[in-house]
Amino acid sequence: MSHFDEGAVVDDQRRRLDQIRLTGITATGYHGVFEHERREGQVFVADVIVHLDTRRAAARDDLAHTLNYGELALQVSAVLSGEPVDLIETVAERIAATVLAHAIVQAVDVAVHKPQAPIEVPFGDVVVAVRRDRTKLPAAEPYVAQAPALAAPAGPPPTAALPVAPNPSAPVIVAPAPTGALPTGVTPSAPPAAASPVDGELVVDAFDRTPDAPVDVVLALGSNLGAPQDTLRRAVGDLGDIPGVQVVDVSPLARTAPVGGPEQPDFLNAVVLARTSLSARDLLRATQSVEQAHGRERHEHWGPRTLDVDIIVYGSLTAVSDDLEVPHPRAHERAFVLQPWAQVSPDAVLPGLGGGPVAALAATAPDRDGVRWLALDWLTAPVPAASPDPAGELGGSVQPA
Ligand code: ATP
Ligand code: CA
Ligand code: CA
Repeated sequence: MSHFDEGAVVDDQRRRLDQIRLTGITATGYHGVFEHERREGQVFVADVIVHLDTRRAAARDDLAHTLNYGELALQVSAVLSGEPVDLIETVAERIAATVLAHAIVQAVDVAVHKPQAPIEVPFGDVVVAVRRDRTKLPAAEPYVAQAPALAAPAGPPPTAALPVAPNPSAPVIVAPAPTGALPTGVTPSAPPAAASPVDGELVVDAFDRTPDAPVDVVLALGSNLGAPQDTLRRAVGDLGDIPGVQVVDVSPLARTAPVGGPEQPDFLNAVVLARTSLSARDLLRATQSVEQAHGRERHEHWGPRTLDVDIIVYGSLTAVSDDLEVPHPRAHERAFVLQPWAQVSPDAVLPGLGGGPVAALAATAPDRDGVRWLALDWLTAPVPAASPDPAGELGGSVQPA
């Protein structure tokens, strides 16, 4: 029996995504348009199919980065037994939003059953089934834990008490939660409970870890299409506008000859020092949306672009995955990154393979002669002409060392 459209969800390369199925989550809820439904409550059941890429999870065994089924089931149960609404459509949307709040999830199917619905004729079940993903977002907000006053005192995390099936495809049944005693302390972004490992749980990597304290990051910006100086200026503002990102300092502006790729105009480059409370992967997503906002299109690798934002370092993290590597694997050999970085942070050290003192690396980088000048006050000086060839037009130029 299935109420889902079993159709696979595919990734951007049309490869079928993996699935995690969590079915039969049961709780007493108070949803409905009738007064007696609001007063007495009834059974609601949810099935959830999460579409995601589990490969990152499969290779690792790092419990610090888990998103376990117990947590997910608890959140779904909390929506079922939580704030009453008129329609199970709304309940389904809210569950979808809660599941999608986990960054690793790409799409979700949600079915909400109301087998005791007040219907005049005999019937078996009534189900609302929805599929939501990152392009068709849920029409509701994710579940957020209720007031801390309701939170259980210090003790094992809620997941510890859950009966969780060892097999990802087996159902997980959660006992109905009494009203007023919602599982609290669990929010979609809460760090996963490392204390209660469960077989088969989903593991995400270090890039998904939300830091305990703000992390210092270095971002490298480049532009060689459109009006580069203007773009870079606005991009610095946009980066500072990202919730959870604070711009600390901005380097002088470098004009550099392109390295690699096709014949193309010179680049303007700058380095931004920032502090973030975002995970590395959320930071990457946010910087990519800044690129998009400036009309970035990805055609050829190392080709011309209106805006490129690379994450050079994220605190002291050294890690690699399909979508992200920090420190940036080519930063150590790029004068157009190292020179502006050394200007704004003379004592900086690049961690990782090929790393070292940034100023020393800048002085020996193979493309060091391609950095033609640096403008000091490019953020505040008037832009005479935001042309792609601004040499000689910017105030405060200095020659690179
Ligand atoms: P390069 O990485 O050599 O500077 P590029 O900036 O031209 O090349 P892009 O097309 O902008 O490459 O990015 C390709 C992919 O690189 C991105 O989709 C992103 O997932 C990945 N990537 C890996 N590590 C990083 C990082 N540290 N910062 C930004 N993107 C990264
Ligand atoms: Ca780049
Ligand atoms: Ca890039």
